[in-house]
This record gives sequence, structure tokens and C-alpha cells, in this order.
Amino acid sequence: MAEQRCCPHCGVALTPTIGPPDSGWGDLLVCENNECVVFSGSKTDIRYKPSDSPLGCRYAEDVDGGYKSFNMLAFRGM
Ligand SMILES: [Zn+2]
Repeated sequence: MAEQRCCPHCGVALTPTIGPPDSGWGDLLVCENNECVVFSGSKTDIRYKPSDSPLGCRYAEDVDGGYKSFNMLAFRGM
């Protein structure tokens, strides 16, 4: 890794990952901290989500897009 980037919300180092093939994303950096406010606080942001759904949003950056940040929908508990 040429550069280590950290989540601006929790300060944990972002984990390099590859976006889903049909998402249009390439290399991504994702905050995998389950205590991160983006993830732990995402429960109320997804209104259509059932209360027992394992889905949440993780902080992520699009490497190819100039490290543009976005919230990536992700399963909880991974
Ligand atoms: Zn975070």
C-alpha cells in the first residue's frame, strides 16, 4: 500500500477491498470497524429496512474515483 488511509469517523485504518463486479466500482477502501458511528448509527438511516435486517452502511472510499467517500451497504456481522 502506497498510502494508509483512515476512517474520518472512527480513525480506524481502512481495509482495501474490491467492489462487486456489477457495481462499477474497482478498488475500494472500507471501514470495517463495527463500532464506527457510520455503521452503528446506520440502523436509523435505512427506513425500509426491517428491524432484524443485518444490513448497515459502512464508510467507504472509491480509490479510482479520487478517494471519493460514500456509504456502502453491507451486511452486519461480517
Ligand atoms: Zn469508521
